[in-house]
Order: sequence, then C-alpha cells, then structure tokens
Amino acid sequence: MPKDLSKIAKQKKINYFLISFVDLFGVLRSKLVPSQAIKEMQKNGAGFAGFATWLDMTPADADMFAIPDPDSLVQLPWKKEVGWLASDLWMNGKPVEASPRVMLKKQISQLAKNNMTLKSGVECEYFLINPEGTAIADSKDIQSKPCYDQSALMRQYDLIKEICNSMITLGWDPYQNDHEDANGQFEMNWNYTDSLGTADRHVFFKFMVKSIAEKHGLRATFMPKPFENLTGNGCHAHISLWSGKNNLFLDRGDKLGLSKLAYNFLGGILNSAEALSAFFNPSINSYRRIDAPVTASGATWSPSKISYTGNNRTHMIRVPDPGRFELRLMDGSANPYLLQAGIIAAGIDGINNKRDPGQPLFINMYTDGDNYPNIKKLPPDLESALEHLGKNDVLINSFGEKNINSYLKLKEQELKDFNSKENFSKKDPITDWEKSNTLDC
Ligand SMILES: [Mg+2]
Repeated sequence: MPKDLSKIAKQKKINYFLISFVDLFGVLRSKLVPSQAIKEMQKNGAGFAGFATWLDMTPADADMFAIPDPDSLVQLPWKKEVGWLASDLWMNGKPVEASPRVMLKKQISQLAKNNMTLKSGVECEYFLINPEGTAIADSKDIQSKPCYDQSALMRQYDLIKEICNSMITLGWDPYQNDHEDANGQFEMNWNYTDSLGTADRHVFFKFMVKSIAEKHGLRATFMPKPFENLTGNGCHAHISLWSGKNNLFLDRGDKLGLSKLAYNFLGGILNSAEALSAFFNPSINSYRRIDAPVTASGATWSPSKISYTGNNRTHMIRVPDPGRFELRLMDGSANPYLLQAGIIAAGIDGINNKRDPGQPLFINMYTDGDNYPNIKKLPPDLESALEHLGKNDVLINSFGEKNINSYLKLKEQELKDFNSKENFSKKDPITDWEKSNTLDC
C-alpha cells in the first residue's frame, strides 16, 4: 500500500503540499496544493500545461499531470506546514517519456533486470553571493587560497548550521561542511544512497540551500562559473554498483581496488564522455569551468581531458578508494535526474560491450597533460557537446531518439537565443545572458 498523504498531512500537521517536477533544463516547478485536496492529487496528479515548461510540447498538447511519489515526501524543515513531493509526469494516461525523472527510472529498471542498483553521492558546490548577484556575500573572504578557511566558514555558521540541521532532521546523514576553493564557495556532504534517492535529494538540496540563503538575506548560486577568476561549482558524483549487499565494483586484489565490471562501467563513461557533457555540463556557462585557465587559488579542480587515475584530482575520473570512483565532470547546472541517468546508460553500455578504459594515468594532468596529445579533450562549448550527443548511438538507443531530439531541439533554441545577443569566449568576461539565465540554475 502506498503511503496515504492525506493521513500523513493530519499526523504531521502539513497544511500544503508542493507537487513538483523538474523539466529537461532542470528547472524545479510545482503547484502548491492544500492538504484537503491531496487525496485526489495523489491519485490523479496535479495538472500542468507542459508547453509552458522546458519540455518539448506545444500549446495543442493535452494537460500533463504530475503524480507525486509519496516516498519522496519531505516536510520543509524551515516551514514545517509545507510538504514537498517529487512527481512523475503523465499525459493521456501514459508516462511522459521525455521527463527527466521518468528517464532515470527507465535506466534504473534496465539495471534492475540484472539485479543491480547504482548507489551514488553528489557533492554540490555553491557560492553565497549578494542578492543582486554581483559579488560574493562576504567582503572579508579574500584569501588567495581560501579552501577550508575556518574564519570564512564560521562567518556563515548560522546559515550553514540551519542547512546541516535540516539534513539531520531529514535523515540524510550529513557528515561535513566546508569552505571550498573559491572565495564565497561552500560544500556540504551527506551520505550516498540509491540513484533515484540521491537525485530527489539533489533537487531538494538546491531548493533548500537557495531558500535558507534567502531567509538569511543572501543568495546561493550553483552556476558552474559565476566568477572568471575563481574556481567553479562542480557537482562530483561518487558511484558504485551493487547487487543486494554486494558492492560489484570492489576487488581488493586489484591495484585500484576495482573489479573488471567496474573498469568496464568506467570504460563506458570514458567512451561516451563527450556526449555525456551535454547532460553533465548543460549550460553555456558550463564550458568556462571545463579546461579553464588557472584560477586565483592555483587550480581549477575541473577536468580538461577524458582520462582516469588513482587518488589524483586532476583527471576526469578519480579512484579515491577501493570499490568506487568519482566522476568530476558534472557541474552545478546539471539536471539531477539526467546526471544519474547518463551515468547508468553509459555504464551499462560499458558492461555490455566490455569497454576497456585502458591503463590509468598517474600524472598531474594540469601540468603534464599536454605531453599526452592522444588523450581526447572535453568539448570546448555547449554547441560541440550537443553535436556529440546527436551522434552518440549509446545514449540515443538508451534514451530513445525522440527524447534525445527533444533535448537537442530545446538546447539548440537556447544557443540560438544566446548567439543572437552574445559571443561565447572563455577569454571574455562572463556575459549578462549567462548571469541572468544561469545564476539561479
Ligand atoms: Mg568540492
């Protein structure tokens, strides 16, 4: 029996529910529904005009319904009378194939056929900035190497504590908070779980950080590169594949502690990395973070080429510990569902086609990468990433040609709009278009 939201509303004193979904561009949308109406909404969903969101629809399309997943319920820690729900989109009695949460669930079911589950954790970096978005919030945060700066961290204690306490209340098992490598930048870590659970939490985390920052008179941004001279906002993912309680990626006899299956999965990701950039680095601004010039702190912490290594942060994939690896390609604008779905799709291809990732490379990629001209570079801009996606049979077959075409069509429209107003060059300052369209990503 699914949870009865109407009953839960009475028990937990929830007066309103946010029935929410994320569109292809990762925008979180919702309807605020009074608890008296939740019984009907739980069954039939909340109605939306799909065309009004970033889904490839027209005004002639029928109503789209967001049917909430009761297992995703979160009582807003900072506004307890409101319950938040992630939803799956339906239209004409069928799931909307091109909705990100449905796309992820399809990938999860592919893995489940072989009794496998992807577990992952994400590291969402963000900046605290002024409400206008013109500068970092803390004018005293000016160290040239600000990473782990205790004083700058503690000046934001009230805000950070409120977010961390919220995660404790929600049972996410947060375990550390720090000031990151850029002035004004922070990261908060909570425990990993199955990929759908992590994707829902990732969506909620961004909403929560922005909301609580606003409450404290500030603005939080996950924009990949809000300031040219500072390290950008990554969203690294740590991943492992499980069958019940068995970590299928673990092999203690291997030099990096990875199984053959893990190497094949990793090989699948390397093989499709350029196309995956279209999901992992979906904004025009994303490409200021990848292969970026050296920052004020001395390193960008983001990859430039498609390579993997051991415990070394200069590559796209790092193996920090036996039994898992870290993908460092994604940034703060990645759609949480497409992020997880892309990993699974490329990983399954790696397993099915026994993709060989080659030998790990134990070099400092930032200083010595140019000595390895055969290693492929990541796409230089969104246009190039979209071209790769349009040619990548692995992702096209896995997500369906129609869904990929919808994504490409909308992203190409966005590029067209940008190109009619601005020019993209990593050498030039960040454009107003990027700021107005990505600061709240
Ligand atoms: Mg970090």
